[in-house]
Amino acid sequence: MAIEPEAHAPPGVGLQVWLDGQGRVLRLGGPLRTALALAREVNARVHDYVQAHSLLVLEGDPADWQGQPLDLDFKTASGNTLHTRGWLLAQGEAWLLQLFDVGDLMQQQRHAGELQRQQHLALELTAALRDCSLERLAQVAGEQLQRLAWHWHSAWTALLLHGAAGWQTFARSEAELPWADDARLSLQLDRLEPGHLLYSGDVPALQALFPGSAFYLLAYAQQHQVRAWVLCAAPAQPLRVDEAQVLLGALAEPLLGRLAGHHLQASQQRLDSVQGLLGAGWWEWSLHEPYLYLAPGLAASLGVAAQLSLATWLALIHPADREAAQLAFTRLQREGGELLVSVRLIPENAAPVARWYRLCGQVQGEGHQRRLLGFMLDINDIKQQQQQASAAHARLENLIAQSPAVIYIQRYDAGALHAEFFSASLTPLLGWPTQADELIKPAEWVHPDDQPLWLERSRLLLREGHMRSRYRLRDSHGDYHWVLDEARLLRDDLGLPVEVVGLWLDVTEATLADERTRQSEERYRVLVEDSPAMICRYRPDLSLVFGNQPLADCLECTPEQLAGMNLGQWMSPTQRQAFLERLGTLTAEHPLSSAEVCLQLPGRAFAWWVWSDRGLFDAQGNLLEVQAVGRDNTEVRRSQQQLLQSAKMATLGEMATGLAHEINQPLNVMRMAVVNTLKRLENGEVQVDYLQDKLKRIDAQVVRASKVVDHMRVFGRRSEIEQQLFEPWQAIEGALSLLSDGLSGKGIELKVCAPLAGSPVRGHVDQLEQVLINLMVNARDALASRRETDPKFKPWIALSAEQDAGKVLIFVEDNAGGIDPRLLDRIFEPFFTTKPSGVGTGLGLSVSHGIVADMQGRLSAANADEGAQFCIELPLATAPA
Ligand code: ADP
Repeated sequence: MAIEPEAHAPPGVGLQVWLDGQGRVLRLGGPLRTALALAREVNARVHDYVQAHSLLVLEGDPADWQGQPLDLDFKTASGNTLHTRGWLLAQGEAWLLQLFDVGDLMQQQRHAGELQRQQHLALELTAALRDCSLERLAQVAGEQLQRLAWHWHSAWTALLLHGAAGWQTFARSEAELPWADDARLSLQLDRLEPGHLLYSGDVPALQALFPGSAFYLLAYAQQHQVRAWVLCAAPAQPLRVDEAQVLLGALAEPLLGRLAGHHLQASQQRLDSVQGLLGAGWWEWSLHEPYLYLAPGLAASLGVAAQLSLATWLALIHPADREAAQLAFTRLQREGGELLVSVRLIPENAAPVARWYRLCGQVQGEGHQRRLLGFMLDINDIKQQQQQASAAHARLENLIAQSPAVIYIQRYDAGALHAEFFSASLTPLLGWPTQADELIKPAEWVHPDDQPLWLERSRLLLREGHMRSRYRLRDSHGDYHWVLDEARLLRDDLGLPVEVVGLWLDVTEATLADERTRQSEERYRVLVEDSPAMICRYRPDLSLVFGNQPLADCLECTPEQLAGMNLGQWMSPTQRQAFLERLGTLTAEHPLSSAEVCLQLPGRAFAWWVWSDRGLFDAQGNLLEVQAVGRDNTEVRRSQQQLLQSAKMATLGEMATGLAHEINQPLNVMRMAVVNTLKRLENGEVQVDYLQDKLKRIDAQVVRASKVVDHMRVFGRRSEIEQQLFEPWQAIEGALSLLSDGLSGKGIELKVCAPLAGSPVRGHVDQLEQVLINLMVNARDALASRRETDPKFKPWIALSAEQDAGKVLIFVEDNAGGIDPRLLDRIFEPFFTTKPSGVGTGLGLSVSHGIVADMQGRLSAANADEGAQFCIELPLATAPA
């Protein structure tokens, strides 16, 4: 059956479909019919016009469809769907399906549904983020972003928040993001103009950055500032701006709120702990109420309630500060404005120890809202330091003012130094006023001769950073003072000069004293230099430290060459040993010692110096140095030796008669032998035995005579220069060899005790022999004069020796009646004699005394029972080491 849409169709509304009993379309009517996509086949059923899902409505035949609303979606020519609703009317045999377009209604319904879902999602997002714990916030945000991704059919979503390093991914859905590093994206986000939904394809920079991916960018702003970005991969269906904004708000707002709350809480905690540490906190006073409010931490530290009455508050303030505080509060109440006072508070829990607090505040608000908002800070440490600093400052100022030195400061300015400060001691010292200004120029006080020094001082100071110099400054009376200037340049952090701090010390006295000392030293130096005596200083090892010209002359060098030379090099080992031993006897209490020393000088055989030493000791009594003065005694020595020699010769002279006898004796014997032998020869009675006997006798007498002559030769020789070790019995034997025969010839008995052995002494053997001869010759002379008066007298001389406690004692005694006691003291004087002139020289005992003294011994005389007794006392010598 053909469809005749135009033939019988009454003007209708909507879409009218006439059907037969089997549902075949008979005719179409109504204005909507033009939109339909017509079925191609003839006798098409209504089923062929509708969408597949509407076939369910058209179950069975048209008769079954009656009495119920029919919702049918038709295919249209444009490919869209035509949503209709209608009902079936019986039209005789046929049926009329009257339908109306319900597309708008459907659209609205769907939209409402979507809106509901979206709201539901938004609520869930908000609830999830609001209720989760802070630790899980990022994780939960990620879960919600995943839900958003599902909701938008998007591959991924991510949320970026602004942090320290720009925009950073805070949370994201599960799928991989197209960027690994937030930094480059963050740069682009900062450049974007936010406010609406952005598509990456529209932003060339983003497209360049992520060439393969397309995504949306949603900015969440609060107070015109972007707080969060949500990025999501572009889905097949474009996102709707309004819906996206709602969901973004639902996600970002609670999240940012939680984060801000957390941030605030952390800040509060930090603030609380800082306030606690500082002993600081806010305080508030509603000016119309008698109450104050304190920050809890502050109240706790003060040991009071957080809310306290004005009276309690004032009672907390130290009485000394209370009135000032009260006046300040009253002024605030009346006039408003600001408060800044420092007061001592006595915390309730720590009375009576007061602590300093700074109270600051400002009156705010009007009328009943007026209140003082303030802050309190514990400044006890600062106050205490301030007090200590000001006490120290006062002490320092006092010290500077009292100081005998002038303390000054010079300011550095463009390479020049300007006086800026002088301590009060300037006036008593130099009489100048202390107000330093540009007009005061210390350079003008400097002595004209010292001005180059002053200029050099400033230059050096700037170069070296410190300086010490000494120059003269004029005082207000025109007199000059020597000052010691100690100055230091202070620099700032960059090393640039800032100022010079210096000190002037009046050293006039010391400088003048120095000058006097220098002059006196110079005088002494000249004295030492010009002295005819040898003056030197040497160390205990005999190395010279200093020597003057006369010493240098003796040693044939210059005074400069003397230092370091060793005095010992000119001494024989024995002399050096003795010298060092003598130094060893010096002590701090007895530092002086004198001696005559013998030296072997260059170019001169021997020199004798009379030498005086003074030892210099340290606090422990160690010998540090020796000062010595010496005099060349060589000439005197030589004369002495000559004298000795003369005395010796005189002795020989005196002994001449004895010696003549001594030699005559063997000569007589020999003559007798010769005469007798000759007589026998004349008589022809010479027998060999007789001749032999006589010749032997002659030979013995020759030996005897030559012995005497030999010894005389030895005795007559000059003494050795230096003392030697010898046995005293050698001298006794020598003396006896010269005298014994002569004495016995004169009828004088010689009593000699056994000589000593093993008792060495130090000296010259010939000299001791001379002493013994002198004593024996004196005894002989005294005995001879005694015999003149008493012919029956039997004279004797006793010679004995003994050893006693380190000493050797040799006694020469006679029985000539002794020495007149009144003369005993005088007999050792040179030229004292009781003998007739031409006989005695008066030198024998004096020379003998000198010889024994030279051997460190002593010669003494006494009267024994029958005559004089002389004693030679000599120290026993120890061999040199
Ligand atoms: P000299 O023998 O030339 O007189 P000395 O100095 O030897 O000079 O002696 C000085 C004096 O001491 C003698 O003149 C004598 O008076 C006295 N004297 C010396 N030895 C004796 C002695 N053994 N007995 C008495 N008088 C003596």
